[in-house]
Amino acid sequence: MTIKRDYYEILGVGRDASETELKSAYRKQAIKYHPDKNPGNKAAEEKFKEAAEAYEVLQDPQKRQIYDQYGHQGLEGAGFSGFRGFEDIFSSFGGIFEDLFGFSGASRSQSRTQRGSDLRYDMRLSFMEAAFGTETEIDLEKTATCPECEGSACKPGTYPENCRHCQGTGQVSRSQGFFTVRTTCPSCRGQGQIITNPCSECSGAGKVLIHKKVSVKIPGGVDTGSRLRLTGEGEAGSFNGPTGDLYVFIHVEPH
Ligand SMILES: [Zn+2]
Ligand SMILES: [Zn+2]
Repeated sequence: MTIKRDYYEILGVGRDASETELKSAYRKQAIKYHPDKNPGNKAAEEKFKEAAEAYEVLQDPQKRQIYDQYGHQGLEGAGFSGFRGFEDIFSSFGGIFEDLFGFSGASRSQSRTQRGSDLRYDMRLSFMEAAFGTETEIDLEKTATCPECEGSACKPGTYPENCRHCQGTGQVSRSQGFFTVRTTCPSCRGQGQIITNPCSECSGAGKVLIHKKVSVKIPGGVDTGSRLRLTGEGEAGSFNGPTGDLYVFIHVEPH
């Protein structure tokens, strides 16, 4: 059995170190011993792991208390056994690594549901219409949820399959030295699912292009630059996401 070093000693902080002190001490160590900076250096690798473990314990008030009272043995008794590998370290410290190296080690699957885009319509009004208000109808060409598949993009009666390339997570891991970088799955483009039987009405888009007449009531007293918002009259959302809004921009002709 190897003898573990004291966690406070590893990070080079006092036993009363604050959360901020711990974080900045750990950050320094992580940068210094980072595998990318020390390729193939076993000693650096050990130090990197050691620092991560020390920080993991000390930043958690409960674990820190156990450690302060009972030391390493106390933590083992509580079921904490350190990190298994680098991936473990990166997934625990997503936030810090994002700060340090510009990306997160943690995976987050992208949601399929997306809000539809807002639409803009420019409306010309005469001076009198702008002054007293008017009601008019505008002809919009926009996307709407496909009535055949109700936005699922699948042929009715069929369902999307989990992407085999990424096991439905939408992300794939790529090793870069000791780093594991997660990127959007190229096979399903981050959706995590593949539509094997696309809806024939919308060709698997879940949306169709429609023409819609929308009546707009312009209140009196509008001016050039006034903007009216018609909630839910924008483009359809993806996979039953909320519909966007329609913005009517007013332009008043000179009197
Ligand atoms: Zn459809
Ligand atoms: Zn995939």
